[in-house]
Amino acid sequence: MTDGLYIHIPFCHQICNYCDFNKVFFKNQPVDGYLDALGEELRMMEDQGIFGEGPLTIFIGGGTPTALSVGQLEKLFDSIARSVPKGRLIEFSTEANPDELTPDKLALLKEKGVGRLSIGVQSFDEGLLRRLGRTHGPADAERVVRDARDAGFENLSIDLMYGLPGQTIEQWEDTLDRALALDLPHYSAYSLIVEPKTVFYNLMNKNLLPLPGEDTEADMFRMLMERMEQKGIRQYEISNFAVDGFQSVHNKLYWQNRTYAGAGAGAHGYSDGVRYSNHGPLKKYMNAVAEGRRPVFETHNVTPEEEMEEEMFLGLRMIAGVSADEFRKRFGREVGDVYGKQIRQLEEEGLLSAEDGRIRLTDKGVFLGNEVFARFIG
Ligand code: SF4
Repeated sequence: MTDGLYIHIPFCHQICNYCDFNKVFFKNQPVDGYLDALGEELRMMEDQGIFGEGPLTIFIGGGTPTALSVGQLEKLFDSIARSVPKGRLIEFSTEANPDELTPDKLALLKEKGVGRLSIGVQSFDEGLLRRLGRTHGPADAERVVRDARDAGFENLSIDLMYGLPGQTIEQWEDTLDRALALDLPHYSAYSLIVEPKTVFYNLMNKNLLPLPGEDTEADMFRMLMERMEQKGIRQYEISNFAVDGFQSVHNKLYWQNRTYAGAGAGAHGYSDGVRYSNHGPLKKYMNAVAEGRRPVFETHNVTPEEEMEEEMFLGLRMIAGVSADEFRKRFGREVGDVYGKQIRQLEEEGLLSAEDGRIRLTDKGVFLGNEVFARFIG
C-alpha cells in the first residue's frame, strides 16, 4: 500500500524558459485521450492492489493541471474517484498557475475534495516574469489568492524563484514583501538551476544570461530565511517554509523516503524497494496503456546501501534532519556505524550537527546542502 500518489498532467499553455519538466505545449495535443489513458492506468494500479485502503496524500502536478478545462478536470477527478480509495487521505493538493485558476475551476477543485493549492507565482516583478516566459503578471497572483480564499481554500502555498537573470537583491526583497503581504501559511522558494535543453541553457552557453553571482544568490537565500523567520514562518526544509500545521505532507513523504505511486507520463514511483518511472513521451505512454500494460518505462531495485544513502541525503534536506532511532528501526544498524566518518568530518567543517539523536544541517550547512548530501553518496 502506497503512502503517496503523484498524478502528472503534462500540458502547459506556455513553455517557460527555465523548465525541464516533462511537459508539452497544450495546443493540438490529445488531451482527452491522455486523460482516458490516465484513468485506465489508475484502474490498473487499483486492480494490482497498489492503493490498498488508499494513499495518505494525492498530489496533482505537471505541467499545469489547471491548464485543463473545467470539463477535463471533471474527467480527471472522476477517474481518481473511481480508482483511488480515500480511506486514509489526509492531504489532497493541486499545482496551479495564477492566470488559469478561474473561479469556476476553484469551485470544482473544492467540490472534488482538493484542500491544498500550490500556486506557481515565481516572482512579483513584471519584467522578470516576462524573462522567465510566464504568462501571468504580479496582480494575477494577488487576485488568485483572494479568489482561492473566497472559494474556501485556507491551505495555500506559492512558489517563488530567486537567482534569476538580471535580478537584483532589491527586486527579490520587493517580491518577498509582496509575497509575505499575502499572509499565506506556506511558501516554497527555489534558486534557479539552469538545466540542459532549456532556453536559458542556450542563452547561458552564448553568454547571454546575466545570472547574479554566487554571493548575491547566497544573500538572497539569507534574506529569504530572515524574512520568513521575522514573520514566524518556519523553515522546515531547505526551500520550504510553513506556519505550524501547514507543512506539505506529500513533499515530506519524499524527504522521509516513504513510498509513493506515480501515475501519468513521466511520473516516478517508489514501493517495495523498487523505483520506477513511466514513459515520458505521450505517445509511448498512451500506447502502453492501450495495449493493456502499465506504462512503466524503467525500474531500479534499490539496494540496502542505496536506501541508506537516500535516507541520509533526502532526510538532511529537512531542518529536523535524520533521526538515529528511525534509522536503526528501518535498517537494523546504527547510523554512526554506517556513516560515522562522514558525520564526524562534516561536524568538524561546521556543516552538520549530531545531537539529541538527530543528525541535521547547521546554519552554515543549510547554505552548502549539496556539498553535504554528496558525501553520503557512494
Ligand atoms: S514551469 Fe510549469 S508552467 Fe512553465 S513550462 Fe514548466 S511545467 Fe509548464
